[in-house]
Amino acid sequence: MNKTTQTVIIGAGIAGCATAYFLAKQGIKSTVIDNNGIASGASGYSAGGLNPLVGHGIPGKLSELAMYSYQKHLSIWDDLQQESGIDFDGRIIDLLQVSLTDTDTKQMQRTFDIFQSTVHPNFSAELLTRTQIQNRYPLINSSVTSGVLASGNAACDSYKLTLAFATAAEKMGAVITSDEAIGLLTKGGSVTGVQTHNSIIPCDSLVIAMGPWSVNASEWINTSIPVTPLKGQIIRLNYPPLDTYPDIEIPSLPEASIHPKPDGLIWCGATKMEEMNEPFSSKQPTDHARNTIMEKILQIVPSLDQSELVLQTVCFRPVTEDWLPIVGSVRDYSNCYLATGGGEKGVMLSSAIGEALADLITTGSTNVPIANTSIQRFSKNISIK
Ligand SMILES: Cc1cc2nc3c(=O)[nH]c(=O)nc-3n(C[C@H](O)[C@H](O)[C@H](O)COP(=O)(O)OP(=O)(O)OC[C@H]3O[C@@H](n4cnc5c(N)ncnc54)[C@H](O)[C@@H]3O)c2cc1C
Repeated sequence: MNKTTQTVIIGAGIAGCATAYFLAKQGIKSTVIDNNGIASGASGYSAGGLNPLVGHGIPGKLSELAMYSYQKHLSIWDDLQQESGIDFDGRIIDLLQVSLTDTDTKQMQRTFDIFQSTVHPNFSAELLTRTQIQNRYPLINSSVTSGVLASGNAACDSYKLTLAFATAAEKMGAVITSDEAIGLLTKGGSVTGVQTHNSIIPCDSLVIAMGPWSVNASEWINTSIPVTPLKGQIIRLNYPPLDTYPDIEIPSLPEASIHPKPDGLIWCGATKMEEMNEPFSSKQPTDHARNTIMEKILQIVPSLDQSELVLQTVCFRPVTEDWLPIVGSVRDYSNCYLATGGGEKGVMLSSAIGEALADLITTGSTNVPIANTSIQRFSKNISIK
């Protein structure tokens, strides 16, 4: 076992807090620093869905890690809730995918096949006719021709889950502090400390978990960290008649999923807008994004025009060009690790990322399937020296 006594984690989003939690479980006390507070980035505002069967890279290179992390979440959630004292609304949910077009119907059939053929016992699917949908879910647009009810995805309140990781880690000795990392201290091939606005924090291992801001650490480690921000807006509506419905989506209407939440609100979205030129410039919700979401969800549930708009939120997904996260050590510093690039699955991937990094820091290896996530895959333009 490596002799690690002091790990510093930059970023108290879900990647950083999960890492602190899994380190604490292995007896390693870490210091987590964040300039904006726990879950102040995307981790505090995501839709909180854990869908390991569909998405960018799934089926594909992300499949194994996604399913691993989904199962890891479910296996630790009871303990985590007890250890932290925080109820993060972890649960298994149903997804109703409905069809308005032939293309939707093909996609729906694909969803049915994927959920139906998945070996994990949580997953199943049922094809529904128009009449069955109208009988069970009378608020759904009557133009819908068919649907699939897919069971087995999980969901949580991602703000509370991040807080739970942080709180449980703190109870086991982690320290969470408010400060901004502005550089590193290095000696030979090792990082020896983090320079913040207020102090130098010594470390014998370092995790960079700065979400879409990870790119700012590129110069610190002489390696380009190719993560870009993908802005997303969600609107939260008050509409009690939909409270007992499953999550609802139409494949041809992306950015307009409907998520009835345990908080009694209907979360709708999320938009996907690249902000390459002015990253993070506009954390304000826009009318355009709200109107886009409203226009689409009214095609699914027309009576949502009676709903009351309660809140709009904006946050930034940390995205890589292949939609796989970046997990593992960096080239120039053997004790420096990256935990970023969770993209639109960062909440779901957080348990696997946290466990993998804790393993790497304490033992130098891990059984978590992170083979496709090394930063070396971008090596053609990696050096910024
Ligand atoms: C609208 C929307 C919906 C989403 N829905 C889902 C979903 O349903 N399921 C899912 O799995 N994922 C979802 N995601 C993606 C998920 O939210 C993110 O992938 C995940 O939260 C990223 O976590 P993170 O810890 O890597 O980054 P962040 O949450 O962004 O945390 C990074 C932290 O680093 C801190 N930081 C940055 N620079 C510094 C510095 N120099 N010094 C100190 N601290 C610093 C920031 O303040 C921030 O708190 C969604 C994202 C969006 C935007």
